[in-house]
Amino acid sequence: MTTRFTGNFTQQEPIPEEGIDAALAVLRHGRLHRYNTAPGETAETALLEQEFAAFTGARFALAVASGGYALGCALRAVGVKPGDRVLTNAFTLAPVPGAIAAVGAVPVFVGVTESLVIDLDDLEAKAGQASVLMLSHMRGHLCDMDRLMAICTAHGVTVIEDCAHTMGASWNGVPSGRHGAIGCYSTQTYKHMNSGEGGFLVTDDEALAAKAIMLSGSYMLYERHLAGPSPEVFSDLKYQTPNVSGRMDNLRAAILRPQLRVLPEQIARWNERYQTVEQGLRGTPGLTVIARPAQEVYVGSSIQFLLLDWASGAVQDVLKRCGSRGVELKWFGGAEPVGFTSRYDSWRYAPSEPLPASDRILRGILDMRLPLTFSLEDCALIASIIREEVGAVFQAGSRQDTK
Ligand SMILES: *Cc1c(COP(=O)(O)O)cnc(C)c1O
Repeated sequence: MTTRFTGNFTQQEPIPEEGIDAALAVLRHGRLHRYNTAPGETAETALLEQEFAAFTGARFALAVASGGYALGCALRAVGVKPGDRVLTNAFTLAPVPGAIAAVGAVPVFVGVTESLVIDLDDLEAKAGQASVLMLSHMRGHLCDMDRLMAICTAHGVTVIEDCAHTMGASWNGVPSGRHGAIGCYSTQTYKHMNSGEGGFLVTDDEALAAKAIMLSGSYMLYERHLAGPSPEVFSDLKYQTPNVSGRMDNLRAAILRPQLRVLPEQIARWNERYQTVEQGLRGTPGLTVIARPAQEVYVGSSIQFLLLDWASGAVQDVLKRCGSRGVELKWFGGAEPVGFTSRYDSWRYAPSEPLPASDRILRGILDMRLPLTFSLEDCALIASIIREEVGAVFQAGSRQDTK
């Protein structure tokens, strides 16, 4: 009898009770807008920013309406103008090229390696084409950040980090989001903290922080920010910076503060799950497990593996077989974008040069979420199902490209 997995790949854990209580308190007093405070009161949003700055070690933090908003705000803050070219990853999620397009700029896609990180040789070759890199740590894989920063520094390229999947991760002891000029994070439901929608931006640069605060829609209330620069920094910027509203509110901040306190424990739980699946997949013929470098501390909230050089039909067979046993895999190699799996060549508003070496990788990427509602036994079962189904298709010999 074949076993079936019956869990739900999109079910997150509930909001901690402490967060629910804090949210109810905000609902009861009604002061949801971050600048709507009673005399002597400090807004939940301002407190959250202070705590998030401490968590990342950044001088400044700003809470915003979404991760995508943080990316757009960062691009505006560093001065990206319509028509500018912005380097970014060929393997990322749609909000990243979307943020670039939203400011009228043009993405220049940089390839992906077998380790699922940005191809640093390709980056080096293209670094002269733009003055900003929006680096997406897609699915939590960190590239050699020391080499990346050396390349970007040598070419005068400003780095904005998209840390939607690396909140809590680090490279060589430096938290993700703290290598570049600005780090952007998401607190959307499927990320590492859940406020439905939401995001952060962190930086050590006071002018960038002041611009981001003005952009987010602070009116002239920037002095209420506990994790912002001193008022003098705003003296000219406040007249020069447009308001592109995208604030966080106190309800979301109230939900997030208790989640931030337990994030280190949650990360440990994610990694136990990740390592259980990884262990179960290791040594499966035809399947490549993604190597994780020693310098990387990751957050295993999702897992990827490669069916490299498999024929499309064979990959589809694996997807179907796993799906029928309750294991939902996402594939980045399909002819049409499905759900979250769009590719650089799906974003036709942003014309791209073909990247044949990256296409080979993208065609082989399978991706799966690991919500914390899964037990370790669930994870072992999921891995054994994938192992069996990949093995069955591999053995049938149908994986070869016969097109
Ligand atoms: C989710 C996500 C974003 C955007 O975050 P939202 O909060 O959904 O706007 C950006 N980049 C990546 C890689 C993401 O997964």
